[in-house]
Amino acid sequence: MSVAFQGLAAGGPGLYNALRGAFAAPFRRRSHMVAPDSPFAAELRLSPNHGERLRPLSALILHYTGMPTAAAALRLLTIAESQVSSHYFVDEDGTILQLVSEARRAWHAGHSFWAGEEDINSASIGIEIVHPGHDDPHPFPDRQIEAVAKLCRDICARNAIVPARVLGHSDIAVGRKIDPGEFFPWKVLAERGVGLFVEPAPIVGGETLERGAQGGEVEALQRALADYGYKSPVSGSYGDDTAAVVAAFQRHFRPRLVDGRADASTLETLRALAAGARA
Ligand SMILES: [Zn+2]
Repeated sequence: MSVAFQGLAAGGPGLYNALRGAFAAPFRRRSHMVAPDSPFAAELRLSPNHGERLRPLSALILHYTGMPTAAAALRLLTIAESQVSSHYFVDEDGTILQLVSEARRAWHAGHSFWAGEEDINSASIGIEIVHPGHDDPHPFPDRQIEAVAKLCRDICARNAIVPARVLGHSDIAVGRKIDPGEFFPWKVLAERGVGLFVEPAPIVGGETLERGAQGGEVEALQRALADYGYKSPVSGSYGDDTAAVVAAFQRHFRPRLVDGRADASTLETLRALAAGARA
């Protein structure tokens, strides 16, 4: 921040706000943050990787870092060369850092889609949760998940984000991303008031739709997944693309078996979830 700009700020909040719009443009690449947006963030560790939001904020996206150490992940998220960032970073001990202002578009989602919208970066807040990922799929520590839960509750309350729009990276980047993983405790978060989750229907076998299936039942499944928000083709033909969407759905909502086959448990869980989203 320049000396001249500090002088304006010293004129008091009224003057500061009146002049801020006129003077904001040259400082757009800089962050004006002096304190975190969330009271639960211990400190700022600002990343240069952010831009203008191109649409209103309406979703919260959860990730795992997928790197061997927290330090390596934090470094990647805060150096300009990486071109990636997130708004928040939650360490294994529950420490929360804020890297990007909630007002800005962070670069965590990449090529993405949900409920008819692309560019989910513009419409979301992203949280990176320290975890090595599928190479070492141990449980997330309790204190880390409790920290994630209180941060998510706070973000959703302040930004009016509805439970059905608290999503995993795997939900919005089907076939490309698998984080935060089928071992992420979505159920625990739901018990803490975060996100939408229904108890998965038991796996009992029975009739299963899978690759190669054709017809009205396949089309109804595809439509139900698309209506929920997934990037699902509606063709009546169960190809690799539909198997990928079903696997993404299972990873979040029926995590005990992620196989891309729409068995009775998957279909029933999707029905119950959709009913919950409409309620
Ligand atoms: Zn991710």
